[in-house]
Amino acid sequence: MNYELTKIKGIGDKTSVLFNKLGVFDIDDLVHFYPVKYIPYERVISIEEAVPDEQVAICARIISAPRTIRAGRLKITNAVIEDYSGKLKCVWYNSPFIASGIEREKEYVFSGKLVKKGSGAMLEHPIIYKSDEYKALAGKLKPLYRTVKGLNQKIIRKAVLSALEKYTFEEDFLPVDIRERYDLTDNISACHNMHFSDNRQELEKARKRVVFDEFFNFIYSLSILKEKTSSFSEYDIKTEGILELFENKLPFELTEDQKKAVNDIFSDIDNHRVVNRLIQGDVGSGKTIISLILMYAAYKSGYQSIIMVPTEVLANQHFRTCLGIFADFEDKPQICLLTGSMSPAEKTAAHAQIKSGEADIIIGTHALIQTGVEPERAAVVITDEQHRFGVRQREKLTQHQKKPHILVMSATPIPRTLAVILYGDLDISTVVTKPKGRLPVKNAVITAKDRGKAYRTILDQVNAGHQAYIICPMVEESEGLDAENVLDYASKIKSIFPENIVIQFLHGRLPQTEKDNIMCSFARGDINILISTTVVEVGVDVPNATVMMIENAERFGLATLHQLRGRVGRGDDQAYCIFVQTTDSENARQRLKVVGGSNDGFYIASEDLRLRGPGELLGSAQSGDMRFDIADIYTDAEILKLAQDCCDYIASEDFKPDDDEIIRFRKHIEAYRDKRLNNLNI
Ligand code: ADP
Ligand code: MG
Repeated sequence: MNYELTKIKGIGDKTSVLFNKLGVFDIDDLVHFYPVKYIPYERVISIEEAVPDEQVAICARIISAPRTIRAGRLKITNAVIEDYSGKLKCVWYNSPFIASGIEREKEYVFSGKLVKKGSGAMLEHPIIYKSDEYKALAGKLKPLYRTVKGLNQKIIRKAVLSALEKYTFEEDFLPVDIRERYDLTDNISACHNMHFSDNRQELEKARKRVVFDEFFNFIYSLSILKEKTSSFSEYDIKTEGILELFENKLPFELTEDQKKAVNDIFSDIDNHRVVNRLIQGDVGSGKTIISLILMYAAYKSGYQSIIMVPTEVLANQHFRTCLGIFADFEDKPQICLLTGSMSPAEKTAAHAQIKSGEADIIIGTHALIQTGVEPERAAVVITDEQHRFGVRQREKLTQHQKKPHILVMSATPIPRTLAVILYGDLDISTVVTKPKGRLPVKNAVITAKDRGKAYRTILDQVNAGHQAYIICPMVEESEGLDAENVLDYASKIKSIFPENIVIQFLHGRLPQTEKDNIMCSFARGDINILISTTVVEVGVDVPNATVMMIENAERFGLATLHQLRGRVGRGDDQAYCIFVQTTDSENARQRLKVVGGSNDGFYIASEDLRLRGPGELLGSAQSGDMRFDIADIYTDAEILKLAQDCCDYIASEDFKPDDDEIIRFRKHIEAYRDKRLNNLNI
């Protein structure tokens, strides 16, 4: 069924490449390339009724032949349209052929945004419809798709429409019985209506089915995983006295929840069960030490442990943390680092250490799985900030061995009821209590005119021996985007602050070793102010950093802002987070009020949901790091529960499918596991 895109009328090689950029490679992809948003096709109005700044549809004739002029690199096409009430100018940029084929003196519908320019108004980039074509659409929902430069909405809509005509759908994998039970529409109308529906109700029904499928496929496949993993452990790890040893050695007192999480893990082990546990805790709740205690226990019983992290910066940090924690243990584990940017010689050495069993604790990034590391005695596999890894990646690390204990650490705030479903293959320990003496971060949302005060706060903190982060959304200046960038900001800051203050910038495009060097010197305290993009978002731990200033804060999602802020307030000193708001839109104001008013990840996630509105049909709206295509774990929580219920129903004796239904169902789940589970990061 995977026809090439070029089989569709209107898609040539060039357009096909543009679709590829959107992840659409064949007709199957295109049919499932759902809109991100829908707006009703506007009622047709006359020119005099049109209001500036609004999306309008006007039925009119072109009275002047479209003319294209060049302004630098820009091609500007102008035309004038007229109806009984007046005339209006239309303008298109870089689309010289837009009006080709348009007959003069014939009526068309021009749909675009009316903008005010000087004294007059003009219609910007209107899409041109034949008027009967538009009349058939008016009142229906117009799908808006994610797009790239060179591909306009009309091309995408046309392509989707003809793809839907060409495509042969598989027979529905959900038996009728199940569809009736959960009030789900069939797969074919769901798919059609996701793109083109006559009204909201129809769209809601389609969406319910698509979201249901997404959740169902995922949790059903997980439930198969779970059967595979919950079993008796073949590793004999002794846990006695380990927690007490750490309590004596650590420079701080473990929180109740940290102890409880360790006890949860140890009680699994003591009962000879394979540990499959999620440690869920807000940023800064101290999850790392929990993993270290487990790895140490494994080491004392003669086993190896692996901890995987999403970034090299984090791998290096964990490496240093480990060295620090075990520094005054009499019986030190051998710690080994393995990351992608190490030289071939270093990698070979690390591999040898791992394979020979010399390495007790192995810390690394994806490089661990990519290079076929095969520790023979690995009894423990841990992933930190795990949502960055796919389920399959987790599996891959462990498939060659006896089932190891698995610990997964995540700061994604989801309510327990949902976590139980989404992490169906894992038990859950939650770390809520913050370390003793930890002061809540003080927040301020400011506007650009108060930057001076923010710099004052930073300077005061630096003079008191602390460090600061300043986060900018961009790396370098970019045409047409009005946002702060790391490079210019760093030179600006250098000219504002006294010379003795060490200022450094950091961003994702620097070579890995340089990034690590910078993070290391920041961690050592050699840098006072670090100007950075969000590369510091995940897990970085420098307790001496007490201020974070976030430029153009409204550009970031609430979950990201909360993660970023989690980089400060990790020690005993008072910490500050300054959000610089640079637009005065109501939505920006409200969203920043939420992060500025609370340090609680759960609360922020739920407000994020409220601000987006539960009925909002924003397809790819994402919360935290849960990546589903259409489904949203917060707004679609009810459907998630239905999907879970359906899994239970399928496992029950009440469910009596016929043979064909079983075959279709199995085939579908297998295809899903092959195609999607690899990529789904959860
Ligand atoms: P996260 O949960 O975000 O991964 P970390 O494990 O990185 O948090 O811990 C954050 C900081 O708190 C680290 O500097 C760590 O050493 C410190 N820490 C962890 N547990 C405690 C505790 N019980 N008391 C004081 N500080 C702690
Ligand atoms: Mg962490």
